[in-house]
Amino acid sequence: LEEEADPTVIAALVSGKAPQLVEPPAEFLVLGGKRQTLGLALAHLHRHAPRPVDSLALAAGDPFGAIAVDQDKCTLCMACVSACPTKALSGHPDKPSLGLLEVNCVQCGLCRVTCPEKAVNLVPRLSFGADARLRQVLKEEEPYPCIRCGKPFASKSVIERMVERMSGHAMFKAPGKLDLIKMCEDCRVVAQYELEDGNRVLAGAKPPVTRTTEDYLKERDQEG
Ligand code: SF4
Ligand code: SF4
Repeated sequence: LEEEADPTVIAALVSGKAPQLVEPPAEFLVLGGKRQTLGLALAHLHRHAPRPVDSLALAAGDPFGAIAVDQDKCTLCMACVSACPTKALSGHPDKPSLGLLEVNCVQCGLCRVTCPEKAVNLVPRLSFGADARLRQVLKEEEPYPCIRCGKPFASKSVIERMVERMSGHAMFKAPGKLDLIKMCEDCRVVAQYELEDGNRVLAGAKPPVTRTTEDYLKERDQEG
């Protein structure tokens, strides 16, 4: 095009390269923010595309996508949920469950750097399916019941990982100490006091015996 001198040929080339209009034109009202508006425009283009696809792979750093969680590494500790600035990640009120609302994910990577188990990978992509607008479960499991009272209090994976990591630790060598990890917050306090003094994880030195004036006077009389 830059090398062509004939205006008639240039006009023909330009008209051939001009973007085609989408038919029918979009009729939605632009009321949301930039991201919602872009989402509506892309959905309209996708609806009328000659060869629509479910998902388009994007480059690293592009602000749309999902995350992939390694099922074996993830302990459902929920650290990533607290770190996610767009509420793309969520837990569940009744069970250990990690979910993703893909349309909200901006690929910031905060979940990846926060995850203590290095279980998160970013997947930059543009998804057009309905699933992207629904909470997708990334990992879910049954809650772990307290071994003393039976109350569910944590995810099974997180307790198993803590027991595995603490089993060689000097503070948890004495009998009964590792079981404290498997108890809910209430039972753990009670159980600590039931353990012998020396076996309590947080046990300090014995407090000094309180002496009264009477004790000192008695001592003086005995000496005299
Ligand atoms: S992905 Fe990582 S931070 Fe998120 S729940 Fe699993 S282990 Fe915790
Ligand atoms: S990449 Fe960012 S926005 Fe997406 S789930 Fe992780 S923390 Fe949330």
